[in-house]
Formats: sequence, C-alpha cells, structure tokens
Amino acid sequence: MALKSAKIKSLHALEILDSRGIPTLEVSVVLYDGTVGCASVPAGTSSGSHEAYELRDHDEKRYRGQGMMRAIESVEKKIFRHVEGMVVDSQQEIDKAIVSADPDPQKSHIGSNAALGVSLACARAAATVSGLPLYRYIREAYQMPDTRYRLPQPMFNLLNGGAHADSGMDIQEFMLVPQAASFAESVRWAAETFAELKDILASRGLAVGVGLEGGFSPGLSGNREALNVLAQAIQRVSLPADSARIALDVAATLLTRGGQAGEYFFKREKASFSRDQLIAWYAELAKTYPILSIEDGLGEDDWAGWQILCKRLRDTILVVGDDLTVTSTQRLQKAIDTQAISALIIKPNQVGTLSQTIACAQLAHQHGIKRIVSHRSGDTPDTFIADLAVALGAEYIKAGSVTRGERVAKYNRLLQIEKELSI
Ligand code: PGA
Ligand code: ZN
Repeated sequence: MALKSAKIKSLHALEILDSRGIPTLEVSVVLYDGTVGCASVPAGTSSGSHEAYELRDHDEKRYRGQGMMRAIESVEKKIFRHVEGMVVDSQQEIDKAIVSADPDPQKSHIGSNAALGVSLACARAAATVSGLPLYRYIREAYQMPDTRYRLPQPMFNLLNGGAHADSGMDIQEFMLVPQAASFAESVRWAAETFAELKDILASRGLAVGVGLEGGFSPGLSGNREALNVLAQAIQRVSLPADSARIALDVAATLLTRGGQAGEYFFKREKASFSRDQLIAWYAELAKTYPILSIEDGLGEDDWAGWQILCKRLRDTILVVGDDLTVTSTQRLQKAIDTQAISALIIKPNQVGTLSQTIACAQLAHQHGIKRIVSHRSGDTPDTFIADLAVALGAEYIKAGSVTRGERVAKYNRLLQIEKELSI
C-alpha cells in the first residue's frame, strides 16, 4: 500500500439526476496511484432554512434553474485549488481545506453540495487505498473508540405526507421502527408490514402509489387515520408484543402560518394549533399509539417552544431536532444548553463535509443525545450514510421505505455489513 503516492491528482464532477428528477452532483477524485473515489450528493425538499447553502445555477433555461454547472466549476476549480496534491487519507485536513475555500461558514460561495461531494469522494478513495471497508476506514480516520460495531435501528417511512406526497396527511413521515433482534429481521418485518398496508389500502379503494421516500401516499382523511392504518398493518403481521414502534416527522416548519413561530396550520385537516395545543396533541398521540419519536414537532426557530415540548415529552418519547439543528455544532450546542431535544437528525449535506458531520454527531453523543443518520427526499443510490451510521455507532438510521432503489440501496448495504460483521 503506497500511501505516499495516494495524493489527489484531479477532481471531476458530473451533473446527474436525483430520485426526484432534479439535478445533483456526482464527484470523482483521482489519485496519482490511479485510485478513483466517487460519491454523489442528496438534496432535501423540505430543507431547513439554516442548512448550509446548496449551490444551483438559477439559470431558468436549464432544468428550471436547478442545474449544477456552477457546482461543477466549484468542485473542479475553486475546491480543487485547495486540495490538490493532499494525501487522501488525511480526511480532517482535506475537510479543513474545503472549509477554508469559502469565507462564509454557510458555504455560499463553494456550495455545500460541491463541498460534500469532494469530502465523501476522498473518504471513499482513502478507504480503497487502505483496503478497509468504508465504515472501518471512517473509524480509523477519526480515531473513534474501538467499541464493538453495532447496526443502527432502522426507521422505515411507510406513509409519506406533507411536502413529500400529494396525500391526506399534514405530517410528513410515518415510520415503522421494528424492535427486532437483527437488522435483517427488521427489514423483513418492515417489508411484511408494507405488504399488509398495501392490502389494507387497496381493499378500501385507496391509491397505492408511493411518495418521494417510497412510502404510500393514499388520500386518507388525515393524520389519525394514517396512524390507524399503520397500526392495523402492524397488527396483521403479528409481531411479538411491543416489538414495533412508530416514529413521526412532522416537519412543522412547513406548517407555521407565514413563518409565525408558535402558530401552526394543518391545511389538509383545516385545523389550527397554537404551540401549546400542538404539544398537548403530541402527548395524547404518545398515549394512544406506540410512538417512539417525534421529529421537528415545532418550527425551526421556535426555541422557547422546543424547551416546553422537550420538558413535557422527553421521558416518554424521543424529541428529535432536524430543521432545528441542521447537523450544525453551533445549533446543537444551543439545543443542548436549552434542553430542547433528546435526539437529532444527522444529514451530511446540511453542513457540507464529513468532518463537520462527525463533529456534530460526536457532540450529540457526549451529551447523551441519540443520533439518527438520515437520507434526503432527493437521493441517489449512493450508500455512504449506511457506512457512516455504523462507524458512528448511531442509534438509528432513516432511509425511507422498503421500495425505491435509492432507499433500498442503503438498507441492502447495511444487510451486507451485518453479514460481514457476523463472519
Ligand atoms: P427532506 O426531508 O430531505 O425533504 O428535508 C427529510 C426530513 O425532513 O427528514
Ligand atoms: Zn425531518
């Protein structure tokens, strides 16, 4: 293994499509020893406004302004100048160089998508050079504790609503979280529950097409009915008692009225909630259904509300920040200081480099905050987050339903890792 020759020779970026038919980036790094590392970048639909800046062309003549020509130039010119010739297994140095290419911490010049593509492609190339599976390489690169590897518990998004589907639910995600003995068994339970759900919906004459993350998006009357059909499907699979929980992502920022913190409007149900009414409703749901977690239960800037929500519910369920925390150590620190959350979403593209993602996940872990590594609604078959979740020892992963190739790819990669670790 000639690490001395494993230096960055060139970067190449390609405009590809994500799972929504919208352009995104695929980045390849070529090393002097001929090794190539490749990664592609996901994108959100209900992105938080505090996420790092996603660079797009805004040239309405191509892809309705969503093109990647500027991001390609950012990779091949702006970022390349800062990382050219660096030893590829110095991931933390590479990420520092990427960050230094932009005076703006939000990466508004280079773009978080361009930054992430380079960062992840370098990690892949370095893993190849070192001869290690990616999850092991990441642990070594960050000198993470040598604890036993364990698989994250998967959260399968079986019903899609909100901005992810044209359906009857204001809540964006209804997820099944099997409490199974192995990852493989969790996958089986989820697939069987999904099949039951399909039968239930079809028998009622409802649509069985899927939303952006592969879950059904039927025209149900509302959130409670969605919970009821999910509970019914779970029951039909006859899982052992207490072995299936439900996770919700409300994505409540999109439900705020004109961005007003403290007031929420469920337009499909034509119902308004004050912050206190919404919290009381969550408490009631948690009593009625086997709820494990509620993500983005309040708006992304309603810090005072989050404090009340967390105090009220943290002993019963996980109070999960996503748009609130955006994989930012600064925002996470504020959430820790104000006791606003008990779990958070980790999305590498919210911040733009592997090192910043890992710093955020580690800060969370130090404070006993559970980590849910997550895909985006616009995703690709890239499985980087599966290895990342294993490297981190993350408690959970959410990668969509049991359909759609870009979702299933992550779960299938975790099945491979589980098998590899058992040998
Ligand atoms: P997004 O949705 O990728 O559209 O932001 C996922 C989520 O909100 O968790
Ligand atoms: Zn979310």
